Amino acid sequence: MAIITTTRQKYVVVGAGPVGSLAALYAAKRGHDVEIYELRGDLRDPSTTPLNFTKSINLALSERGINAMRHADHPDLLGHVFGATIPMRGRMIHGKRPTGELYEEPQDYDIHGRTIFAVDRAGLNKRLLDILEAMPNVKFFFNHKLTGADFKKRRAWFESRQTGGSGSDSSDRPKEIEVRFDLMIGADGAHSAVRYHLMKFTRMNYQQEYIDTLWCEFQISPLAKSAKSRNPSSSIESRFRISPNHLHIWPGKQFMFIAIPSEDGSFTCTLFLPSAEFAYLEADTSKLPEFFDHHFPGVTSLIPPTELTSSFEANPHLPLINIKCSPYHYASSAVIVGDAAHAMVPFYGQGMNAGMEDVRTLFSIFDKHAATLAESNNPADPAPLDDAALQRGLALAEYSTLRVPDAHAINDLALQNYVEMRASVLSPAYRFRKLLEEFLSVHVPSLGWHTKYSRVSFGNERYSDVVAKSERQGRILLRGLGGGLVTLLCVGAYGFYARQLARSRPPVSFFHTITYTLFRR
Ligand code: FAD
Repeated sequence: MAIITTTRQKYVVVGAGPVGSLAALYAAKRGHDVEIYELRGDLRDPSTTPLNFTKSINLALSERGINAMRHADHPDLLGHVFGATIPMRGRMIHGKRPTGELYEEPQDYDIHGRTIFAVDRAGLNKRLLDILEAMPNVKFFFNHKLTGADFKKRRAWFESRQTGGSGSDSSDRPKEIEVRFDLMIGADGAHSAVRYHLMKFTRMNYQQEYIDTLWCEFQISPLAKSAKSRNPSSSIESRFRISPNHLHIWPGKQFMFIAIPSEDGSFTCTLFLPSAEFAYLEADTSKLPEFFDHHFPGVTSLIPPTELTSSFEANPHLPLINIKCSPYHYASSAVIVGDAAHAMVPFYGQGMNAGMEDVRTLFSIFDKHAATLAESNNPADPAPLDDAALQRGLALAEYSTLRVPDAHAINDLALQNYVEMRASVLSPAYRFRKLLEEFLSVHVPSLGWHTKYSRVSFGNERYSDVVAKSERQGRILLRGLGGGLVTLLCVGAYGFYARQLARSRPPVSFFHTITYTLFRR
């Protein structure tokens, strides 16, 4: 749908993460005055402490995030983002055979060869900030923390620690400022202050869950320039120690270790482990290399044991939260998007992708309402509809109604996918279903069968539709397999019975005649 510019309004975006920055870009492209308030300093400033206190998080970027950036309609965005991504065609499962031999088993994500992309979250975020900075209707306020909001009066309060985009006070003492707005977009992450204040204005249902898994980051360093890659499929000299085009998984049944490639030849690795195991290893970190050798064979040849231990000691052990809430808006003045609305565990690689899709969905609804308004606005008959706030209110209500079931669906899928990544990838039943669904997708396309993973990561269908379709496919498969099994059993039983019958006496009926003919010796 084309971008519709409406009455110029003031949009305040809280949070300059990937989702908030994209929301600011969508709003600015529609001609609104946009102010972005961010708790931390400018990410592009090397002195700013990154989110989660880690050097970088490498994310899996897939179709929904890409599509949202495509619809941002900015000539420099996608090209630049793609210039810094690495395609990942599938998972590479690492393990050890009973003979003690290490193995790598690739499992492609998609029979049609589509890939997801490894991207540096900070790099993507910085690119969005650069684009926004060049827009005349966007202002940044870094080091500004949202402390209060009145969504009826459309006012908010921020604590500012130092000069932002337009202030004049350079002291380090916190100062409170009041900001007026038409719409506040809360993109301030899992512990959202906007959501907290929104709860005082709307009857929001809220549910949060910490899963019993913590995560900690490690690095596989690049090979020195002259060395050759271990990756046998690579003919050119590579700085990657293992295949760069896979998301590497060391499944541990109850936990796992993963590695995602970075542009410089390194891999950002994440250990996901229940809190009890973390406590066990924290009590005596010298056990770590042995633990890795037992559960994640081969890792200590990629990360030297001393480095493994020092990263485990230095990097934070962070929790994973799953948040569901509803609705996402209040009247015409506030809406939450991204992790603020639906923080999820990272096992489907969809958190940021879903957040970006929120933005595309929200603004496509704004555009639809703006178009309706423009059509019905006859200058000879000034309609009461000529009210940007009313239009926004209708759009926000529609957004909550549409988006809540989808966000809840992907939250649940992300939780379920942890089991798939750490255990099911090794199961024959899982592989059989994948094989069968991919076979049908290629050879009987009219059936419209696709794996759940490909619907989530390579398409833009609503998440709730993906779940419904995948459950339907599962039921049909189960019925088909069950029916096949019952038929086989019946045929076998009948064959056995008929054979006995045929041997004992001459045929007395039509079926007996066939049986007699078939089984008579
Ligand atoms: P955030 O990135 O959390 O940004 C929120 C911003 O708001 C921050 O800059 C913060 O400083 C600011 N803020 C907070 N409070 C205030 C306040 N009071 N006032 C002003 N500003 C405030 N997603 C994927 O799509 N693919 C993946 O492969 C993937 N892997 C992941 C791996 C791990 C280990 C983790 C933890 C997450 C992963 N995710 C992944 C999820 C992804 O990181 C998040 O979904 C995404 O960063 C959410 O973006 P956001 O902009 O909504 O929130």
